[in-house]
Amino acid sequence: MGFDEEVLRAAVDAGFAAQTEWLARLVGFDTTRGKEAACQDWLAAEFATRGYAVDRYTLDEVAIEGQPGHSPVVDADYSRAVQVVASHRVAEPAGRSLILQGHIDVVPPGAPELWARDPFRAEVIDGWMHGRGTADMKGGVSAMVFALDALARIGFEPASTVHLETVSEEECTGNGALSTLVRGYRADAALIPESMGHRIIRAELGSVWFRLRILGRPGHVLATAAPGAHAILAAQDYIAALQALTAQINREARTHAHFGSIDSPVKFNPGRIHGGDWLGSVPSWCELDCRLSVLPGQRLADVRARVAAAVAACAEGLGTAPPALSWIGFQADGHVFAPGTAAEAALAREHRAVIGTDLDSIAMTATSDTRFYDLYYGIPALCYGAQGRGMHSPDEAIDLDSLRATTLIIARFIANWCGLRPVGQG
Ligand SMILES: [Zn+2]
Repeated sequence: MGFDEEVLRAAVDAGFAAQTEWLARLVGFDTTRGKEAACQDWLAAEFATRGYAVDRYTLDEVAIEGQPGHSPVVDADYSRAVQVVASHRVAEPAGRSLILQGHIDVVPPGAPELWARDPFRAEVIDGWMHGRGTADMKGGVSAMVFALDALARIGFEPASTVHLETVSEEECTGNGALSTLVRGYRADAALIPESMGHRIIRAELGSVWFRLRILGRPGHVLATAAPGAHAILAAQDYIAALQALTAQINREARTHAHFGSIDSPVKFNPGRIHGGDWLGSVPSWCELDCRLSVLPGQRLADVRARVAAAVAACAEGLGTAPPALSWIGFQADGHVFAPGTAAEAALAREHRAVIGTDLDSIAMTATSDTRFYDLYYGIPALCYGAQGRGMHSPDEAIDLDSLRATTLIIARFIANWCGLRPVGQG
């Protein structure tokens, strides 16, 4: 079923004011971890209004534990972790099926003093929409929803099955994406419209999250503290030891096929620290929560063993027992997405038609949900989307012109990948 390219472009343009408003509404939901349900319920209603079959479920309803790619969970209530899959199903598919996936969880805003505005009130300035989650990645979610809307506006729907998935947990475990696969959703390709600046991810780093519970030897603050007796000061030693391990891994990474040209691609982040109870006492405990990147080709078990060895060696130097080490989130493999898939070729064609350049790829020094589809389930997966900036920072924003172009590219990709048929053919 053919479509007129200019008519489709006009349909995306005609819907873009409504898309921008819809995105602002989406940004208005505080979807930091544990608070995603209200947003997901709103999305489920939006999808039902559009005629999709909606599967709304929580993570505790799906047996994800022990599945490939599963990450352990602490401090989270999965009975409230709502996931949504909206399906457009076709009895006799004429084209290839597709998963469009976006995560709606966002990272916490951090210090409010650093924000020039309310993080959860979208504001457009000079063609950029600002706010937490605009770029990472509610803008991408709006693109996949309004790409299908644009096709409907000109009287078409996909001629094969499309699953629209909005998940949580992307920023800490990936268990939301995993749950959709364990629940049985499959397709001939998956597209995740993260704000990649109109490039696709060729390779990405994984990461591991862990916690050290450091114990001191408590006493009155006047007592002379031996090395390792002060739990908070001892944390500094563990941080230094893990920084040294990171430097060693980065030296080894200089010959890595995909990350060798990037200076120190592996990052160690001591991201959260709690400890001590009383200012007159030497702190008896300190919990240090950390993240370390994982290169494609590194085995997670090996990375964990190196972390444990570095911690043990540091404890020995301090003359104390090693702190308890636990794995508290991401256990994410690094991954390389093989070039040359039919899905990539199809996306490259639409990118070139709209943007006018060849499709570029990047090695990304962060972790996305994309690995689940390709690495564990053999579904060719593409991560591609608009121009964003300031992800995880108070400057987070998305370029609306670029988002409009992305919406058109996704609409064209759906048309050519899935095929089209007139709306309501049954
Ligand atoms: Zn993201």
